[in-house]
Amino acid sequence: MEGESLPAKTHGCDGVLFVLKGKNCSPVCRDDYCIDLAKHTDEWKREAVILNIPGQKYTIGSGKNLESLDAAKYGQFLLFPNYADVTKEQCKIECDTSGNFWLCSLGDGETFVNGKLLDSKDRLKFGDMFYFSLNLSKLWDPELDKSKIWKLYRRNACGRDFAVFKFKRLTPKGRTQQDNKEANHEDNANSEDFHGSSTNPKLVKHPIFDENSILTKIFEYLIPENNDNQQKDLFNCRLVSKSWNESSLLVLQKNLVLNLTITMDNLIRDPNSLANRLHWKTHRMKGLKFDGMKINIWPQRSTYYIRDNEERDKAVVKFNQDFSAFINHPDFHPVKVLTMNIDYLTPISTLLSKFCHSLEELTIQINMIWIRDENKTRFLETLIFPKLKKLTLEFCQQEEGDLGKIRESKYLAQLLEGFKGIEQLVLKNYAKLPSDFGPFKNLRKITIYGGCNYNVEIFNLLDFLSQIGTLPADQVRSFKVEIDLIDVQVTPVEVEEALLCFLHNQAGSLENLELSARYTQPIKLPRCMPNLKKLWIGESLNWTESEFMWGAKLSSQVTKKSKGHMSEFRPDTLSLVLWDGDECGQESCRTCNDTLAFGRWNQDEREFVCYIPNVENIWAWTQ
Ligand SMILES: [Zn+2]
Repeated sequence: MEGESLPAKTHGCDGVLFVLKGKNCSPVCRDDYCIDLAKHTDEWKREAVILNIPGQKYTIGSGKNLESLDAAKYGQFLLFPNYADVTKEQCKIECDTSGNFWLCSLGDGETFVNGKLLDSKDRLKFGDMFYFSLNLSKLWDPELDKSKIWKLYRRNACGRDFAVFKFKRLTPKGRTQQDNKEANHEDNANSEDFHGSSTNPKLVKHPIFDENSILTKIFEYLIPENNDNQQKDLFNCRLVSKSWNESSLLVLQKNLVLNLTITMDNLIRDPNSLANRLHWKTHRMKGLKFDGMKINIWPQRSTYYIRDNEERDKAVVKFNQDFSAFINHPDFHPVKVLTMNIDYLTPISTLLSKFCHSLEELTIQINMIWIRDENKTRFLETLIFPKLKKLTLEFCQQEEGDLGKIRESKYLAQLLEGFKGIEQLVLKNYAKLPSDFGPFKNLRKITIYGGCNYNVEIFNLLDFLSQIGTLPADQVRSFKVEIDLIDVQVTPVEVEEALLCFLHNQAGSLENLELSARYTQPIKLPRCMPNLKKLWIGESLNWTESEFMWGAKLSSQVTKKSKGHMSEFRPDTLSLVLWDGDECGQESCRTCNDTLAFGRWNQDEREFVCYIPNVENIWAWTQ
């Protein structure tokens, strides 16, 4: 990245701010007064992406006045707390309406650009260097960062570095290896944009290379089937030709998920990392959009218990402003699929306010950590989610028993009001919600998992059944319950009754019913479910994954090939299934005229080896 000392036009291009970082002569050298200058190396570290947006501002300062932060005045605050010569408010980079950058002195200290004292403000061009120490100014020459004399003057008497900045044009090629590694890790983009010069003219002549709709269809086969989100093939397609680039971009947008994990502790250590990462993403969004976002925001990595201290509180205040500016940026396109695992209410509300009109699928982790923020956060608007089809709620326990407080959340109550148009609901564990599901008139598919995830110890199945039981009758088409090794709220008999009551209420519409539990209590089903096409009752819902899985199906689901008597059938290995109620007598009714097939999944044969008894006989046999 050297050799860019000539001033370059900044019009319309995003910039990037580098800061000179000293490296000690060896990894073990911690001596600030080490004078072996030849072995001390300096390198430019990319500190922040400077976006070319009219009115965008970046203030460079020590960050000592963060409490009085005024976003309108400072814009993005870039913090350099550990340098010898950065004042509280040192200088400001501003972008004007014609796409030019300006460096403005803020009066707290002197600023030198390419060796000259900055009067009040001056055009900032790509390749410019600026710093605040008069000593450095006397020695200035464009190649100075490589010379030894420079290094001698780079520290004050206490051994602290003077800050030196370089402003450059932001290009994919301008990124360092390190940056590229980080980018791959964060958002899985590893290719540069298409360059016309690399096109092979012979290839481009063939009509297939210009037909976008055909190309798009072909490129859809390049989406990886597993969870690998690298999308390398699609990125490579972007490099072939202009029309390949356009078509693969369409497919990428649908399948690319922006992954973002932010921890407050990292922000305390590296305060400008957000300006670097988020603004880089904003820069990239000009050319590459995406439908999906997955965001984790935590106080620190991998613990549910610890919340904030004074230092984190400060970091959160600044983070909320930066994050809101990022999400509400005009270039930020509508997102359709959003997964949030966030421990703070403000970013949750920022995301939902921005994307509520475009979201089709939403996953939220619900815990008391962010719900407690309700006391100090304002959220006045009621959001509506007109396109939302699928909602996933994951319940996480922070302190013992705090799942019971979730129903008091006012924010959640407002959200549920906005969610009532959904068609599909997925629940991972459960806690009583502020309102019932009565108004969810489009809800057709329900899946609930109970397990020891996220610190949860008891599966509140009865609370779920009582709240879902308020749905209008004969509305649900698919209902799945999977209970792993976890204690279930109240007694099996009470659960059995509540479940049967719910199933009776939905018996007219149910097409798919899957129940799995590791306890051996009988499961009662309504006798008459005229539309039921698929039934599975067993130990696990993922029965095709296991080698031997005992379970029950409707005999009409069993293929002819696998029908037959299975002599070693052991009914004690699965929950008994009992029909409740009388037959309706109609010939078209599936469950009234069908028997249950008991058996096990045989992975080798890939078939359900079954035993088809008369239901009453089975019941009598196991008494
Ligand atoms: Zn019937």
